[in-house]
Amino acid sequence: MTPPPDRTAPPSLSYELYPPRCAASADILLRTLDELEPTRPDHVSVTYSGDEDRRSRSLALLDHLLARTGLRPLAHLTCVGAARTELEETVTTLIRRGVRGVLALRGDLPEDPAANRGELSFATELVELVREVERRHTATLAAGRLAVGVAAYPTRHPESPSARHDVEVLLAKQRSGADFAITQVYFRPERYERLVAAARAAGVTIPIVPGIMPVTDPRRLRTLCRLAGLEPDPDLAAALENASGPAERHRAGVGFATALSRAALDAGAPGLHLYTFNEHRAALDLLERVDLPRPRPEPAPALLTA
Ligand code: FAD
Repeated sequence: MTPPPDRTAPPSLSYELYPPRCAASADILLRTLDELEPTRPDHVSVTYSGDEDRRSRSLALLDHLLARTGLRPLAHLTCVGAARTELEETVTTLIRRGVRGVLALRGDLPEDPAANRGELSFATELVELVREVERRHTATLAAGRLAVGVAAYPTRHPESPSARHDVEVLLAKQRSGADFAITQVYFRPERYERLVAAARAAGVTIPIVPGIMPVTDPRRLRTLCRLAGLEPDPDLAAALENASGPAERHRAGVGFATALSRAALDAGAPGLHLYTFNEHRAALDLLERVDLPRPRPEPAPALLTA
């Protein structure tokens, strides 16, 4: 059984962003940040993948969030293809730059079986590595801890033999030191509810935040599903394909994601993590429809003067 919602804690809100690839997409992202910041998210996560250039663009986006916005970043970090020392250096860099949250992931395996897969096999080992580096920086962190998140799968991970195995892996991630999990995209409310029920029955106690994707473009739905190893939901795919134009597609995609969000919150979800594709419109329309309670901005108190 999914535990009842904890009504004492307001639901969390977070957004996923990716580093822009060119000047035009950087402009779109800057506008998105301006539009999303007033919703006072608890954090915004920054994806991490690809070659060194793309990884350094992730770091640049994290720096931008810290230096130029009031948003708290959660840095995704993948271990596939990386040496242990390289990962330790990256975590140290993140801490030095002021990042206080890491989403520890393995990353997708390279298609070429002969390619370097790195020194760590699974995300559990990356969680342990992050905790080790954290212990070396107790003073920098003012004896505090990093928030360490991990991935969870409402639909079986493509490499996993079963949903049960996915839950065992999630439990192992918790034992390694994960504080919370964010789910992969899913399209049926019962997928999230079943995952949470199975995880709780197995002893997983960390919050499992549903990852919701307000997708309004059929091509993007197909691409994302291919990358994540998922089947596109036939109802959503048909609604997007058959829509008479962009406005109807937008309504269909946001409506679908709103229903998923409401169902997850009704089932006790601790908050929502929205995959934004660096665009604000669908995320904001979804939030308005879900009517997620957000903290009101408090005016900063005046500093005492002598
Ligand atoms: P793991 O937990 O290591 O699992 C990988 C596979 O190994 C699974 O099939 C699992 O069942 C199996 N497994 C794990 N431990 C064991 C074990 N001890 N013994 C046997 N089998 C085991 N990818 C990116 O490249 N960059 C990103 O920024 C990114 N962000 C993401 C954010 C979210 C919220 C999610 C859900 C996914 C994200 N991904 C990202 C995708 C992710 O990297 C892939 O799904 C990847 O294939 C698995 O990552 P993981 O951390 O779940 O790996």
